[in-house]
Amino acid sequence: MRKPVIAGNWKMNKTVSEAVGFIFDLKNLISDVTDVEIVIAPPFLAIYSAAQAAKDTNIYVSAQDLFWEEKGAYTGAISPGMVVDVGCKYVIVGHSERRQYFAENNETVNKKIKAALKHGLVPILCVGESINQRESGETFNIIETQVTEGLSCLSSSEIESIVIAYEPVWAIGTGKTATGEQAEEVHDFIRGVLRKLYGDIADHTRILYGGSVKPENIDELMTKPNIDGALVGGASLKAEEFAGIVKFRC
Ligand code: PEP
Repeated sequence: MRKPVIAGNWKMNKTVSEAVGFIFDLKNLISDVTDVEIVIAPPFLAIYSAAQAAKDTNIYVSAQDLFWEEKGAYTGAISPGMVVDVGCKYVIVGHSERRQYFAENNETVNKKIKAALKHGLVPILCVGESINQRESGETFNIIETQVTEGLSCLSSSEIESIVIAYEPVWAIGTGKTATGEQAEEVHDFIRGVLRKLYGDIADHTRILYGGSVKPENIDELMTKPNIDGALVGGASLKAEEFAGIVKFRC
């Protein structure tokens, strides 16, 4: 059995006080939920306060990124140790916005994943194709490369804790969700790639869908056998809306 994960990626939204207010609202809304792992990824500056507010609740906190070095002359960077120190359990790696605006590539993603694992963080590896890549029939090639290179040189035991998020770039922030069938096809493919690389561990890996997930479409997505949760952007910014996704039915 794979425990579903519903993760909210706030991107560059919310101040410290807004983050704390959200966690207080959310914890009341989801206090009865025990069968879903709930994750919130605030901006770096709000992580500590959000993690404090989430103490003794079933809400975990994630970073949205990290750098692979532990310390040194890397102006503006945040290390894995720093992220752990402020209370993170998860870290998102390779989000398409990092790939698009901050020159992230499969090699840097792989370094970040290794650094995260070394510090006991659970990496959420994001993969996904652009609309041009989908329309030119490259989806599976792109996804296979992102998964294989992103997870390169990891041991089976390291793979065990990793979460993968399939986020078609054309569905992020556009209101265009992949249909359950479109998402399931790629999730099934990703599990096949994992099985080829790591055998039965593939059956334990949580694969989340991301791309305009809302309370209105989560139920259908979660009926699919290889969809184990969601990475949510816009709809994670309001506690009621996010709680509606956490409380999906399938
Ligand atoms: C995301 O940023 O990972 C995302 C899926 O965003 P949205 O839900 O807004 O499409």
